[in-house]
Amino acid sequence: MARTDELVFAPLGGIGEIGMNLAIYGLGDEQRRTWMAVDFGVAFAGDDLPGIDLIFPDIRFLEEERRNLAGIVLTHAHEDHFGALIDLWPRLRVPVYATPFTAALLEAKRAGEPNAPQIQVKVVPLGGRVQVGPFDVEFVSVAHSIPESNGLIIRTPAGAVLHTGDWKIDPTPILGPPTDEAKLRALGAEGCLALIGDSTNAVREGRSPSETEVAKTLAELIKTAPGRVAVTTFASHVGRIRAVADAARAAEREVIVVGRAMERISQVARETGYLDGVQEFRSAETYGYLPPDKVLALCTGSQGEPRAALARIAENEHPEVTLSKGDRVIYSSRPIPGNEKAINRVINGLVAQGVEVITDRTHLVHVSGHPRRAELADMIEWVRPQILIPAHGEALHLAEHAALARRAGVGKVIVCRNGDLVRLGPGGAGIVDEVPSGRLYKDGALIVDSGARTVPDRRRLGFVGIVTVALAVSEKGQLLANPEVELMGVPERDAKGEEMAEIVYDAVAETFESLPNPRRRDPDAVAEAVRRAVRGAVARHWGKKPICHVHVLTV
Ligand SMILES: [Zn+2]
Ligand SMILES: [Zn+2]
Repeated sequence: MARTDELVFAPLGGIGEIGMNLAIYGLGDEQRRTWMAVDFGVAFAGDDLPGIDLIFPDIRFLEEERRNLAGIVLTHAHEDHFGALIDLWPRLRVPVYATPFTAALLEAKRAGEPNAPQIQVKVVPLGGRVQVGPFDVEFVSVAHSIPESNGLIIRTPAGAVLHTGDWKIDPTPILGPPTDEAKLRALGAEGCLALIGDSTNAVREGRSPSETEVAKTLAELIKTAPGRVAVTTFASHVGRIRAVADAARAAEREVIVVGRAMERISQVARETGYLDGVQEFRSAETYGYLPPDKVLALCTGSQGEPRAALARIAENEHPEVTLSKGDRVIYSSRPIPGNEKAINRVINGLVAQGVEVITDRTHLVHVSGHPRRAELADMIEWVRPQILIPAHGEALHLAEHAALARRAGVGKVIVCRNGDLVRLGPGGAGIVDEVPSGRLYKDGALIVDSGARTVPDRRRLGFVGIVTVALAVSEKGQLLANPEVELMGVPERDAKGEEMAEIVYDAVAETFESLPNPRRRDPDAVAEAVRRAVRGAVARHWGKKPICHVHVLTV
């Protein structure tokens, strides 16, 4: 029997991977459901996707269901939760719900991008409650590494779900309220059908240290620094920026903000009150006029980004900010997996200049914004969900979170994959269907399907190069000119010093001459024979087969 009040959940991104968080909830029966999306994140492409900047979740399912999509609710303003909105929102054009800081940061981002759409944002106060179609959504403040991170209590006739978003338990955060334990316990008392929760640190024992501990370490390191100090952190970590500013003031140092992202977020944080009481920051031009022990540069570039402030400073290429022997650089951050090499390049550049570099490997200068195992156990105890679905993590994190939940007594634990449609209730919960899911790539100004040949072609080109051959053939099957040969990304000479272009040229000429006349008049046959011969000839001298394009012009 079709149920009109069935509640389903489907992740379209963020499960089995880091980044690209996008979850949807549906209410109704199989034929007709009303949907609500939670978060709209990106992932950053690595070297394995040449030429690709960003990865988005494939939203073709939501595009098809656009008329039944009541809205998009954002938990917080990290890129892995809201970074896809500007590019993909025009395909959906539904209201977006966000708290003030998230809304302000989205607006600042929009203002910085040409042709960004006018997104309809409905601002929800902290701890507020809104009706999104049939979903009654209550925001729950949680501690994290950006202002205004929220869990969502989603109430429906089928039961209440807690979508945790990114969170940790920090009784003494620098900024904003601690995780709202009372509200979460109240949900436990009311009855929680399902918890969809952050698994990022499910492999780590114990509890995450507090931001206050990090602030103490930073204050000490900034106070004892003999020369100039530069601190780099995630630009969106306003609590950390505040801690650095307080430490600078205590050490009688002026704070100079270096890097566009840091400037933009400082401004949004001022506008939204998150830097109230913090001294004014100085612009980069004032840096050179201040004595070394009176200055602190707050820089972008904690992930080794080559164009960010810190990388340019390390290369001695920053117009205003320089560092030299005896200065101190603090990485108040952790490498996002995949960025280690780029970060080490910058660190080594600094060390080579005699700059002292301090990271979280030796000092408590960074803590994660995600819950460790004891915190995950606390959340389960507070909320006592009937069902738990691990989210926000790779396979290992999800499996560890699932095992922990089972041991904590959660009756039903469902480990799912992107695109799985999970029935939460009423009745037996489980994976019941699949919805279209996948990835989209941002390639320059275009958004392309990840199944397109473009990227595999680029990867192949990067590995073997390309040989282009052009032949002009008469109606009678005679060559009208010498073949044109062009090589790109192929070695110029073989081991004996013979020119590869000559090798290709000879292969082309010999092959053409060896073809019987009727076949010479068939351009496709010529192209195919020449292509095979060229690839074979180059492979004999190089050990690799290039890509080969043959153009046959018949005159
Ligand atoms: Zn986050
Ligand atoms: Zn996240």
